[in-house]
Amino acid sequence: MRACGYGCGQQTERDFVPGHENGAIQQRVREHFDGSTSAFLAWLDETLAMGVRASAAAG
Ligand SMILES: [Zn+2]
Repeated sequence: MRACGYGCGQQTERDFVPGHENGAIQQRVREHFDGSTSAFLAWLDETLAMGVRASAAAG
């Protein structure tokens, strides 16, 4: 068991309590893309096209 990745404080055997991964994504869309999922997807596609991944960015 581990803490849900959404930060809700619940314990789960997976990364998220079922459904909470969507909440985590929507939270970021609201904070960084003015609530626009299409803007988020455009940014994601653009970022992936550049070959930048989260693990690479950290290193
Ligand atoms: Zn949660």
